[in-house]
Amino acid sequence: LPVPDPADPAALDELHTEDERLVRETVRKLLDKLVEPHIAEWFEVGAIPGVRELARELGSIGLFGMHLEGYGCPGMSAVDYGLACLELEATDSGLRSLVSVQGSLAMYAIWRWGSEEQKQEWLPRMAAGEAIGCFGLTEPDVGSDPGSMRTVARRDGSDWILDGRKMWISNAPYSDVAVVWAGTDEGVRGFVVPTDTPGFSAPEIKHKLSLRASATGELVLDGVRLPASAMLPEARSLKGPLSCLNEARYGIVWGALGAARSCLETARRYSRERVQFGRPIGAFQLTQQKLADMCLEYVKGYLLALHLGRKKDAGTLRPEHVSMGKLNNVREALEIARSARTVLGANGISLEYPVIRHMTNLESVLTYEGTVEMHTLVLGQLLTGEQAFR
Ligand code: FAD
Repeated sequence: LPVPDPADPAALDELHTEDERLVRETVRKLLDKLVEPHIAEWFEVGAIPGVRELARELGSIGLFGMHLEGYGCPGMSAVDYGLACLELEATDSGLRSLVSVQGSLAMYAIWRWGSEEQKQEWLPRMAAGEAIGCFGLTEPDVGSDPGSMRTVARRDGSDWILDGRKMWISNAPYSDVAVVWAGTDEGVRGFVVPTDTPGFSAPEIKHKLSLRASATGELVLDGVRLPASAMLPEARSLKGPLSCLNEARYGIVWGALGAARSCLETARRYSRERVQFGRPIGAFQLTQQKLADMCLEYVKGYLLALHLGRKKDAGTLRPEHVSMGKLNNVREALEIARSARTVLGANGISLEYPVIRHMTNLESVLTYEGTVEMHTLVLGQLLTGEQAFR
């Protein structure tokens, strides 16, 4: 038997079908051409110049709403979608966020809870990357506990009037449509809001030191008048937004591994080239221990992601499973990034290498889509039967 490939020491590749490998290679090829050469600069300037053209390119290979059926969506498997997320986040978590928010949050909300008319109007354009969407749940005073949201929607004749503020909303500054969650007399409901509606604005949140290649904004809703047809008819409680988050979190289970792989590979290569005390630093036992630990966590995280992906495709994936995957894989990816950072020494803090960018990005990923603490409590509840949220 041949010696395992150091870039895939556990031969994880053998777990995939030819078609899955093809999906992965198609995504990687596009990213290598269009994004990889520019991503460090986009992170540094805090913007993706030409985000609309990029969105159309990503749409052209079916990355938006990739695992949804119909309405121009590719209808691929959950594992295919996971592999795409991994490749996207190996480039940058901000780019994966663009795709997750578009496909798993905004499009999924419309696809799962929307009217036929809403689906026809938005999904084909969003799948093609011609329209960009965002998803507004978090507010300035409401994060982990969305049941306390203050944004309200009240009826005025057959119309709805929305008032409130959303905070930390990915894609908001360049979105054409916002899915906004608001409290009503009938519980939490979702609204499909074209961003040119009077009273709506989405100012960008500046000064982020993480996820800089992703625009984040507020949503300001100041007497936004919407027709009755703007409400998502099938979503009647917090179950609506939570179902979308579950979809996006599934993508993060895989995505975080992409950032981890990039860090591990960078550290491994660096350890072979960098010479100190007359030897490559990879020849020192302390460096080897770091690389071995990174490698093991990556492999374990990958096996978990693939298991969850196969379960999702079989229709047996529960939200608790997604919590386990998100909690473990983001936490371990961040540890891998921090450890890789030390292997690179001073170069580890430079944008000349991807490691510090992944590391700071993963700080956001640890918090959004359910904080590491929230997912710990979900698992704690599963294990003990005791709810420790409140
Ligand atoms: P809080 O809920 O205030 O929590 C603060 C701390 O207290 C955390 O450590 C938390 O775990 C802990 N905590 C809270 N309650 C408990 C408890 N019961 N037990 C133990 N610990 C607890 N939101 C959107 O709606 N749409 C988006 O597109 C979006 N994009 C984002 C992009 C970025 C870059 C970031 C950083 C955030 C984004 N978010 C988005 C918001 C994100 O989902 C929230 O930040 C997250 O849910 C946590 O809320 P919070 O920041 O208000 O923290």
